[in-house]
Amino acid sequence: MKHSSYIELDKNALKQNIKYLKQRIGDAKFASVIKGNAYGHEIKTFLPMAEECGINYFAVSDAYEAELAFKAKRPKTHIMIMAMIDKYELEWAIRNEISFFVFDINRLKNAVKIAKEVKKPAIIHIELETGLNRTGFAENQLNEVIKIIENNRKYVQIEGICTHYAGAESIANYVRVERQRKKFHEVNIRLYEQGIRAKYSHTACSAAALTYPDTIMDMVRLGIAQYGFWPSKETRMYNLLSDDTTFQIDPLKRILSWKSRIMTVQKVKQGEFVSYGNSFMAPYNMIIAVVPVGYCHGYSRSLSNLGQVLIRGQKANIVGMVNMNMLLTDVTEIEGAAIDDEVVLIGTQGDLTITVSSFSDLANYVNYELLAHLPDYIPRLILER
Ligand SMILES: *Cc1c(COP(=O)(O)O)cnc(C)c1O
Repeated sequence: MKHSSYIELDKNALKQNIKYLKQRIGDAKFASVIKGNAYGHEIKTFLPMAEECGINYFAVSDAYEAELAFKAKRPKTHIMIMAMIDKYELEWAIRNEISFFVFDINRLKNAVKIAKEVKKPAIIHIELETGLNRTGFAENQLNEVIKIIENNRKYVQIEGICTHYAGAESIANYVRVERQRKKFHEVNIRLYEQGIRAKYSHTACSAAALTYPDTIMDMVRLGIAQYGFWPSKETRMYNLLSDDTTFQIDPLKRILSWKSRIMTVQKVKQGEFVSYGNSFMAPYNMIIAVVPVGYCHGYSRSLSNLGQVLIRGQKANIVGMVNMNMLLTDVTEIEGAAIDDEVVLIGTQGDLTITVSSFSDLANYVNYELLAHLPDYIPRLILER
């Protein structure tokens, strides 16, 4: 293999996650969120795998990701853009029946204008500002929105009315989230009464769906949970403790493993410094295995002298600074460790597992961030069992 590491995706784990999440969301539509290169899993690999597991609705962040998804998808699969699309990409989106969030009047006007030229309706999701204070129409803008839609019924198809919560993964935001949910409900009713009716009302992300069942509505935008991660420790504890039957077995299975190999092995004498600088001095005569993965591959520099990898079914500590393209591990106690041995950076080897969260705890990351930092060019391989 040309690459110094690779990522394995476990299709069976995805199947189980989707089954569990469908059970939790009932009849609501499952929109699979694949922004951030499918949370590092890679859009072009992940999307067809998810389609094979029964998903046909995907949410991306921008037109570039929509294009990647569009190339990878089956004809009937739907794509929704949640954030950025500029006026130059609207025509492409409308022609290809890609839906997009609308949260400002200009985008709505541009969409209508282009829909008329293309002679095809723009498929839109009206995003409401309910308290995140990021994107969405404020209440005092709605009359204008309604007017534009009423005057252009043939050119606007309302696929969704939606909002996004300000941190449903933490109980600290409970009051804020509940207010948002109520506000959404009120405004949605008002729109309904004025003839603005959507196919889907949708507000929930993973944390909201798994913590506040009232947020599930007609569609759920599920990101992190489908990849096998709880949005936070709180969400995990809340769910595992409130359902005794699942307490022993985590219903969410991680899909992604990240693996490399030992590139070379070095002997280092007691008292010598290892890697750049002087952050690590060999406390005994050591054997060091060099792994060709570094911070340019998304392996955080803050795991210097902290992280662990698996070699021959055992944990090996990272010693010294993580370099741009290499890291060093202590294999003194790992008998026989040699060039070409598999190195697990994230995932399982034998009885042991290195989780993204153990990793994120040390690097002071959230799961999302670590995953999103995995570069596009690391090859993703699907593991079928
Ligand atoms: C990222 C995102 C989601 C999915 O969030 P998860 O916490 O990963 O489930 C849902 N909705 C919007 C608008 C998002 O940006």
